[in-house]
Amino acid sequence: MAKKNNTGGGNIPVKCSFCGKEPSYNDVLVPSPLGEAYICSDCVEQIEGLLKDYFQDEGGKGKKPGKKSQAPETDKIPTPKEICDFLDQYVIGQEDAKKYLSVAVYNHYKRLAQEADEVDIEKSNIIMVGPTGTGKTLLAKTIARQLDVPFAIVDATVLTEAGYVGEDIESLLVRLLQAADYDVEKAEKGIVFIDEIDKIARKGDNPSITRDVSGEGVQQGLLKLLEGSVVNVPPNGGRKHPEQKMIAVDTKNILFICGGAFDGIERKIAQRLNTHVVGFTGNSVRDKVDSDNYLKYIAPQDLKSFGLIPEIIGRLPVLVHLDPLDRTALLKVLTEPKNAIIRQYEKLFAMDGVKLTFAPETLDFIVDKAIEYKLGARGLRTIVETIMIDAMFETPSTDVKELTIGREFAEEKLKKAYIG
Ligand code: ADP
Repeated sequence: MAKKNNTGGGNIPVKCSFCGKEPSYNDVLVPSPLGEAYICSDCVEQIEGLLKDYFQDEGGKGKKPGKKSQAPETDKIPTPKEICDFLDQYVIGQEDAKKYLSVAVYNHYKRLAQEADEVDIEKSNIIMVGPTGTGKTLLAKTIARQLDVPFAIVDATVLTEAGYVGEDIESLLVRLLQAADYDVEKAEKGIVFIDEIDKIARKGDNPSITRDVSGEGVQQGLLKLLEGSVVNVPPNGGRKHPEQKMIAVDTKNILFICGGAFDGIERKIAQRLNTHVVGFTGNSVRDKVDSDNYLKYIAPQDLKSFGLIPEIIGRLPVLVHLDPLDRTALLKVLTEPKNAIIRQYEKLFAMDGVKLTFAPETLDFIVDKAIEYKLGARGLRTIVETIMIDAMFETPSTDVKELTIGREFAEEKLKKAYIG
């Protein structure tokens, strides 16, 4: 809100865009979300009166004209199974994560549909922990395709505590506002995916003499958002500054899904498991532990040892892990999802009238290389791209109608690219 007498800097107009009057001393000018127009409190009152009359005439008390109710009708909400089936089309494996996400999204819809005077259903924000390239962002993006609430993916790495180089924590909500076309009411019912949440972990176990402005400071700020409070968001993101117009957003109903690789957390989990297995039953418990995948035993205290503050952990009650993708899973990632990499290439070539085929041994080779380079699913695309670049360059100017990518061809292209 711009107070007439503190419009200072000069480029904020001092007139109401509706009535053209200058506001009196203690009046305020409210900016439009895009900052192009201003309205004074007299005009607001007048419009309120007009709207009230309108609704009484229409018999639609309390509803806004031309706007559908934001809450989805209960019978139109996709069931968790339906949400999960949709995820299955795009994401290989990660059954646990899919189950938790589907239920969380389903409950989110239900919470939005509930009447105000009923039992207050609290939201269950989610935290997903899994190695890089296992599908955390993919899950979030796929969920977004199916939702009819605004959804935004934001990165925690750019955030710093207010007053330091970087972005204010509130700027997380800017994307959501943009996804909701600056309709605040709609944004307040949206879902935010915060990627790389592990990057804001406390830098060390001991409070240091230098302030941890991108770690603990950000976590404290984030806490406010996760808990649900009214925060002032700078409409264009970035840093807040005193003369900027702000949009007030209530985060009470916004569902937060966080994701992070938490590199090295396995060691903390292993430590915890090993220190717990003492006494006579020790060995049998230890034997049961799958030491190839410690992540599946992740518990809130491991997040704490990693450097998340307990208050944040408490606000992310659903903790879910993602499994590393093994050979079989990687092979499936290449060919099975609706937009699998191989399918994308087949489509690209088909558009030029070329039937492209990858020999099964070529696919095995691609997967082997991805494992060798320790790139997980992320590496598959790079490898396929390297193998295919020459063919993509040359084929359109030839009259080739069929192209089969054999293992030798793939090996040769990769060798050239990496060794050369
Ligand atoms: P991260 O876990 O680091 O967020 P991403 O979701 O960004 O990983 O995955 C990178 C790419 O790898 C995706 O775009 C997708 O093509 C592929 N991918 C990763 N995991 C899976 C999976 N479980 N199923 C299908 N594709 C996957």
